[in-house]
Amino acid sequence: MKKEELLRILGNSYSKEIVDAFKRVKRENFVLEEDKNIAYEDEALAIGYGATISQPSTIAFMLKLLEIKKGMKILEIGAGSGYNSALMSRLVGGKGRIYTLEIVPELAEFARKNLKKERIGNVKAILWDGSLGYSEEAPYDRIIVTAACAFVPEKLLEQLKTNGILVAPVGEYEQEIVKIVKRKNRLERESFGYFRFVPLRT
Ligand code: SAH
Repeated sequence: MKKEELLRILGNSYSKEIVDAFKRVKRENFVLEEDKNIAYEDEALAIGYGATISQPSTIAFMLKLLEIKKGMKILEIGAGSGYNSALMSRLVGGKGRIYTLEIVPELAEFARKNLKKERIGNVKAILWDGSLGYSEEAPYDRIIVTAACAFVPEKLLEQLKTNGILVAPVGEYEQEIVKIVKRKNRLERESFGYFRFVPLRT
């Protein structure tokens, strides 16, 4: 598929802001050299170390649930290729900040290298176990988990602002995408569809 075709498909279901982020970020900068010719297929692609760059339509779906606004501070668990953090960087704009955590050293480095190609300055890729969250920069407006977890780690909910939104794929074999809104005294939880993500390592 050509990039224009993918953008047209995403345009049927997603906002101008989200489609615009996909337009501005070159996915070919985030895939393996040998996959550059299939960078715009609406598929997850292997990036080594058991990880994948997520499927564009799945990412778009999660970004929509996140309701990202300019200037937000966002935590991502699972930097992988860095692609999703690059999209979020565009959505939050120059005043926003993205912290993306990665447990595999080579992938944290891969993400940094790819983000540099896109000249993105407001994303920090950090080698860290994301199941702990990242208290140094907490609390966050939004948290996105891009690896499958059996349950949402408690630490992440603690590090979310009141009225903040967390989106995560939850489940063992197949995952539902769960959206949690943290209200003052309760959590509002909604789940959507079935998806498959690579597992969160613990
Ligand atoms: N968001 C990525 C896709 C990530 S795939 C992208 O846009 O390319 C899931 C990633 O989560 C993998 O890179 C995997 O190594 C990482 N991961 C798994 N468990 C983790 C943990 N506990 N902390 C941080 N990263 C983790």
